Amino acid sequence: MSIWKQFYKQSLTERLNRLVNGRYLNEKTATWLANNQSLPLEIADHMSENVIGTYGLPFGVALNFMINQKDYLIPMVIEEPSVIAAASYGAKLVRKNGGFTAHVSKRLMTGEIALLNVQTQNEANELTTWINAHKNDLLDVARSAHPSIVKRGGGPIDIRTHYYPQTEQTAAFFVLYLTVDTKEAMGANMMNTMLEAIDHYLNHYFHEHNLPYETLLAILSNYTTDCLVTVSTTISADTLTKQHLSGQWVAKRIALASQFAKTDTYRAATHNKGMMNGIDAIVLATGNDWRAIEASIHAYATKTGQYQGLTTWTYDETNQRLHGELTISMPIGTVGGSIGIHPSAKLAHQLLGHPDAKTLMTIIASVGLAQNFAALRALVSEGIQTGHMRLQAKSLAIQVGAQSDEVESVTEKLLQQPQLNQETAKQVLLNWRNNHSTHN
Ligand code: NDP
Repeated sequence: MSIWKQFYKQSLTERLNRLVNGRYLNEKTATWLANNQSLPLEIADHMSENVIGTYGLPFGVALNFMINQKDYLIPMVIEEPSVIAAASYGAKLVRKNGGFTAHVSKRLMTGEIALLNVQTQNEANELTTWINAHKNDLLDVARSAHPSIVKRGGGPIDIRTHYYPQTEQTAAFFVLYLTVDTKEAMGANMMNTMLEAIDHYLNHYFHEHNLPYETLLAILSNYTTDCLVTVSTTISADTLTKQHLSGQWVAKRIALASQFAKTDTYRAATHNKGMMNGIDAIVLATGNDWRAIEASIHAYATKTGQYQGLTTWTYDETNQRLHGELTISMPIGTVGGSIGIHPSAKLAHQLLGHPDAKTLMTIIASVGLAQNFAALRALVSEGIQTGHMRLQAKSLAIQVGAQSDEVESVTEKLLQQPQLNQETAKQVLLNWRNNHSTHN
């Protein structure tokens, strides 16, 4: 029997046993997970400031992912019900059609130094000419600031500039952009070190040459247009047939929903939020900075000048095939930050088979496309509330105090009620307890 058969219906202990049997976990790790010791206090105390404890979140796995012909078990940390179920369902339909195809087109980080007092376009042109003529010196300054990344085969790659003339509301800004190959790291700290070194060099030069320019700030940018991954899948419309709904009808409507998210910003924000449900969950599980990924991807959604839905679904009526594609920025790392420190993040990388940063980018983007696909499929057909109902009822049961041996029965009873709310849930729990104690 497959270890994934009805995985979601198993007890937590049984799920861990199955992962041990499937050699995804060893006994020691399974016991560690079962004992809920995922982040020891002494580690937490070193990770942040004024620590008074740790804050638990559910750590689950999404199933059925096949990316570039390789199977993956996806670690996800998320408190929102339905996300893992939807990702697994989306991936299951995609898998039936050959899985996801994904590639990384570039993996470079960008940082910037803002300069003040460059008042005219002429001054900006002269400064650009000087910077271009001294590009190698400036890149050497950056290399010397963080030589170890150069030894790893990475380091500063290029410098470019941009000038924003003064407007009624803003001062003039001259910007120097630095591009760095950060290899396996997201690279915020190495980037900031290099930028500050260039910043000092520039200020020294301006001072020595009596130039009025000065730097305002130097920092990594989270708008990572040189760190891009693309994932796609083609799904036969038949796969989408469900009960009385024809697959062609559903596929056409998914394509229309995708167009709607390119048109209406109100929808685009929600479309992308649904996709980020999955992306954030794996980004968090793998110890990456989810705020950086959120900032990066939402900024990338404005690349045309209008905030838009990032996935694109098109329907080929002749061949009855639905094609989905997603290109997003994905500045994650496999080293650095909390990745090597948080024991659960280390476990997440182990569950994924220790992918390198480029492969991890393809995995995370595939989770995003699966999540969006599952959400759109439900939205354009039965609506999302049907699928959410059971999980909503379960959350309500827990909220009103149902204990672990009561949750399933109270959830079942709640689903038979005309309305789901706390009042009903309290009553159902009370009735269940009364009946239960009478029967005993
Ligand atoms: P670290 O500062 O932990 O740096 C990663 C280090 O890993 C490198 O400096 C390098 O050090 C080492 N390393 C080991 N193996 C490799 C490898 N194969 N490739 C590359 N580096 C390797 O993390 P980051 O610089 O990646 O920064 C991420 C952190 O910065 C996150 O915690 C994030 O929250 C935070 N941050 C984010 C900001 C933002 O998004 N705007 C701003 C500031 C901070 P060495 O070569 O010396 O061994």
